[in-house]
Amino acid sequence: MRPALLNSLFAPVTSLSGVGPKQDKLLRYLLDRSETPRLVDLLLHLPTSVIDRRTRPHIRDAVPGTVVTLEVTVDRHRPAPPGRSRAPHLVYASDETGDVVLTYFRAKRDYIEKLLPVGEKRYVSGTAQLFDGTLQIVHPDRVVDEEGFAKLPGIDTVYPLTEGLMVGAIRRAMVQALQKLPKLPEWISPEVMRRCSFPSFADALHRVHEPVELSDILPQNPYWSRLAFDELLAGQLALALVRAQLRRPAGTRHAGDGHFRRKVIDALPYALTNSQQEAVRAITHDLGQPLRMLRLLQGDVGSGKTVVALLAAAAVAEAGKQSALMAPTEILARQHIKTIAPLAEHAGLRVAILTGREKGKERRDIIARLADGEIDLLVGTHALIQDDVIFKSLALAIVDEQHRFGVRERLTLTEKGEAVDVLVLSATPIPRTLVLTYFGDMDISELREKPAGRQPIDTRTVPDSRLKEIMDGVGRAIDNGKQIYWICPLVEETEAEGIEHLTNATKRFEVLQKRFGDRVGLVHGQMKGAEKDRVMAQFAAAEIQVLVATTVVEVGVDVPAATIMVIENAERFGLAQLHQLRGRIGRGSEASTCILLYHEPLSQMSAARLKVIRETTDGFRIAEEDLRLRGEGEVLGTRQSGLPGYRIARPEIHAQLIAQARDEALNIMQSNPKLAGERGEALRCLLYLYERDEALPLIGAG
Ligand code: ADP
Ligand code: MG
Repeated sequence: MRPALLNSLFAPVTSLSGVGPKQDKLLRYLLDRSETPRLVDLLLHLPTSVIDRRTRPHIRDAVPGTVVTLEVTVDRHRPAPPGRSRAPHLVYASDETGDVVLTYFRAKRDYIEKLLPVGEKRYVSGTAQLFDGTLQIVHPDRVVDEEGFAKLPGIDTVYPLTEGLMVGAIRRAMVQALQKLPKLPEWISPEVMRRCSFPSFADALHRVHEPVELSDILPQNPYWSRLAFDELLAGQLALALVRAQLRRPAGTRHAGDGHFRRKVIDALPYALTNSQQEAVRAITHDLGQPLRMLRLLQGDVGSGKTVVALLAAAAVAEAGKQSALMAPTEILARQHIKTIAPLAEHAGLRVAILTGREKGKERRDIIARLADGEIDLLVGTHALIQDDVIFKSLALAIVDEQHRFGVRERLTLTEKGEAVDVLVLSATPIPRTLVLTYFGDMDISELREKPAGRQPIDTRTVPDSRLKEIMDGVGRAIDNGKQIYWICPLVEETEAEGIEHLTNATKRFEVLQKRFGDRVGLVHGQMKGAEKDRVMAQFAAAEIQVLVATTVVEVGVDVPAATIMVIENAERFGLAQLHQLRGRIGRGSEASTCILLYHEPLSQMSAARLKVIRETTDGFRIAEEDLRLRGEGEVLGTRQSGLPGYRIARPEIHAQLIAQARDEALNIMQSNPKLAGERGEALRCLLYLYERDEALPLIGAG
């Protein structure tokens, strides 16, 4: 049960004055909630910037593009002509140095005339713009009279908004919500409070929403950091509570005597790398423990995760149990089965694939065999978590590219068996700090070595003004029998302004096909699964030499003969994504080349990012650099959206706090695992506030 202390914070926002059904709908959208947001949801919606109204320029001195507060006299109104509701309502105003036009679209005439009476003095603020040589403010965000101005805060907060929701409405709701803040017990330990100089939860919220200094809202300052720490602690504590429950019924073991594993290894045409061996050893150790396994297997594309996953499934099969391997896309699932099937057959392991494409009788057969225990390892996509897919005895869930699946999907899969062990495969090397926030205290295996015989990749950055040269080079490569990936960022034409130069895969395909004929193929995300697979198969069989593709080839696809990759608009891709894409080449024994075409001018940030990709192929280093550059991006003002599932904590700023929150959670688990007593009660409040209370029923009342 939620502590009664929190009731006022869990009241719906519609209980605030000025928040009706329309705002309810907008706030649901803004705060990403399916039901009416509660006050706590609103309070944890933090401002992204502030407006300083303490200085007031004259109209003549107002700088276009900045937020200004002007003291003006209203001269006249020009309402939208009748019947032309799309025309703006203009209000002309002035001070002794010049004129300003206040522009309102789709506004109620009466309302505007009352707000800005002719002949009166008003304080108006908003973003100044120059339009036809005249200063203009579109939809001023504050309009007040002398008295109102005296009451205005010198610093105003600006929130992320959604269309139709005015900043004023959020501010008014926020002020009321802050008044309803109860006095809450402190859940952070005194040591951490002292070490980090944290304010209380209530003080932090007040200062972030009603800043006294401009810097009060910066994420690195104590107010925001305190809230970020809370969020991280709630996350870590919830994970620790769940994890403490993950005990296996006594006597169950999920690894057998090794006979399947030995046969799989016998069938391999290569020797396992040291890190593969080490990973298999760690996994089979976990499978034999009384605690359930939660292990992340990280390794660059091509580092050989699939065979490790297969060996884990083999160990489980030795104990007479089943495994599932879930991949995010059809292509990836088929890639896995292609690697796995011949090895499994040799070892006598029974494997099958289930995706959206297996239908009718075929699907029924697979499902029947699965329920009878006649399948040891089922590989597939989301299709695996459908209700009628029932395992006889699922013991191991392997989830590939986990971050693409929601927590719910992962849980649904593990609920198809008892005390199911979890192995997550990730080709995106995640820095350790982030692993903690995503997965909590998960065990980690890393495949840092590349399998023997891999050639380095020569990566070059080239401006797209030299496209013709690159095309000529591709022509020569084709004549030499090479295979080439040509990656474009978008499938369809976009109308969005400023990105017209983005190359459209279909268009590029047409150009290349015109020049090189049917040696060119196209694959993109909007093609049907079967069609995609057909083209991929042609490329794998070298019937096609140039494959124009969007990022659908990002993960998993394995065509070792392809040695050249051209990426258009490389500056548009994230570092991790570029690294993933490039991982498609350099897989065979021949040297490979990757050409990153970029559109000029290149921002400083983009240049730095491309440089990282050019200089290294170590995925772990790239991930770390990415984080570092994003941290700098914050300083430069290109804010990232943060961690999925986390609204306040930002990995690039609060990395230190992540580790501290984890330590705090571990301390709590050691000293007070049932969250008893006063501190326990306070921690329960924390879990409710940050919606991590799902673990509480597991430990009962405090
Ligand atoms: P990942 O899933 O990590 O991207 P894969 O498991 O798909 O990598 O392996 C990529 C390729 O490397 C596959 O063709 C696989 O057969 C091969 N491979 C895996 N391990 C080794 C190894 N130890 N030595 C040589 N080749 C390997
Ligand atoms: Mg793979």
